Amino acid sequence: MKPYSIEKARNYINGAWVQSNSKEEIIVYNPATGERIGAVPSGSASDVDAAVAAAKKAFPAWSETPAAVRARYLFDLRNLMEAHFDELCSICTQEHGKTFEESKGDVRRAIDNVETAAGIPSLMMGQALEQVAPGIDCVSVRQPAGVFAAIAPYNFPSMVPFWFLPYAIATGNTIVIKPSEQVPFSQVRAFELISELKLPPGVVNMVQGGRDVVNALVEHRDIVGVSFVGSSPVAQHVYERASATGKRVQALGGAKNFTIVIDDCNWEKSVANIIDSAFACTGQRCLATSVVIGVGGAYDRLKRELVEQAKRITVGYGLDAGVTMGPLISETHRARVISYIEKGVKEGAELLLDGRDCKVASYPKGHFLGATIFGNVTSAMTIGREEIFGPVLSLMRADSLDEAIKIVNAHPLANASSIYTSAGAAARRYTHAVHASMVGVNIGVAAPMSYFGFGGAKGSFLGDLKAHGRESILFYTNSKTAISRWW
Ligand code: NAD
Repeated sequence: MKPYSIEKARNYINGAWVQSNSKEEIIVYNPATGERIGAVPSGSASDVDAAVAAAKKAFPAWSETPAAVRARYLFDLRNLMEAHFDELCSICTQEHGKTFEESKGDVRRAIDNVETAAGIPSLMMGQALEQVAPGIDCVSVRQPAGVFAAIAPYNFPSMVPFWFLPYAIATGNTIVIKPSEQVPFSQVRAFELISELKLPPGVVNMVQGGRDVVNALVEHRDIVGVSFVGSSPVAQHVYERASATGKRVQALGGAKNFTIVIDDCNWEKSVANIIDSAFACTGQRCLATSVVIGVGGAYDRLKRELVEQAKRITVGYGLDAGVTMGPLISETHRARVISYIEKGVKEGAELLLDGRDCKVASYPKGHFLGATIFGNVTSAMTIGREEIFGPVLSLMRADSLDEAIKIVNAHPLANASSIYTSAGAAARRYTHAVHASMVGVNIGVAAPMSYFGFGGAKGSFLGDLKAHGRESILFYTNSKTAISRWW
């Protein structure tokens, strides 16, 4: 497959590819090779105005289109994505850096959401009860609400916009997508496939760019709701600005995911699973294990075995055979992760494995960083507290499961959390007590499938209805209840 390249990404508005009104551009490089892939416009409020106007115009007819007809477009989209699966995966690896295998997961989850949303005639059904009083019946239905916006982060270029787009249009709404300016091309290719569907113009739109586009979307008077995924400070900003202008918001923010290990776990499987959770996608997953707490005697064995296995990770370009960990997204982010490693050393954590010297000879311009593990980390240390979003794993000790739960629940972020044990009672206690709302029992990345809700708790999620699953249908619709009597 030849390398993906594009001069400059365009916006997709009203069923056509159009140039952005902004003159400034952001250049996108392959994070492994350092080669330029293409550019993306910085974007402007007038781009957003054009996209929202198209979406608003398309809404009345689209919202009246029968659900089964809307679903047929999604069946076709699913087939097109399947037919272009390897190509979508390759673009994902080239712009993001994750391995080809990891990109398969990214694109597969995007397709999963299209498949789930294609069940909309059943998913969108309301409730009915006859005879709520003598001769009186009651029917409650879900109706589309209008124009929505979805704003995505860089770490899942294919999947995250598809947490929203399929459900928004399946429920009869129209939408404007803003991909991450760091990884815009997976969505460009996805929208090229979407353009083959011959959807009515304006049902789906895409505006490329950075914060100016976000700020125009969250304040736009013709947008009724915003789905956001990204870091917690930006989630807070989006939540405040969008709700101040009367919109419904689901804002999925950052994470600090804790994993508990009890000595009675299946060691071989658990350690392999934790390594995958911490270092796959180079630690740039919102569900990645960031801190492992060894309970009692588990700590010393964990320390030994995790370091041993992490040394087997092969860092390189994700399209090359045998590579198990790609680069970080940018040199800026690499420098940020290294500054966390430096803070860890300075604040007294025990550096058990140091990835800072990692070099990949064939790709001197890649933003590579090797797997890094710290022991004796405490919640008071910066690396024990803040989201690092890189291949850095911290080990903590706890004397008991209760102490471990206390450490986990004291953290202001609560996205995902896992426990490794063979004891049902410990697993049950943990699942019940932990604040995180995506919980894994002997599962390192507790990512709910598309037919369940996805989203964290506390500072990791602002809003009330989560992404995909049943909650997504509620987010994208208004309820209407009709009570009738016929004399
Ligand atoms: P980010 O917050 O920097 O960017 C997310 C989006 O917000 C991008 O589209 C970007 O253009 C925009 N943005 C950035 N700064 C902005 C600003 N000041 N004003 C307005 N808009 C702005 O996030 P990222 O670095 O792209 O992604 C990584 C973060 O996303 C991590 O914190 C990770 O935990 C989080 N994340 C969370 C989930 C989840 O399900 N909770 C899933 C994936 C990623």
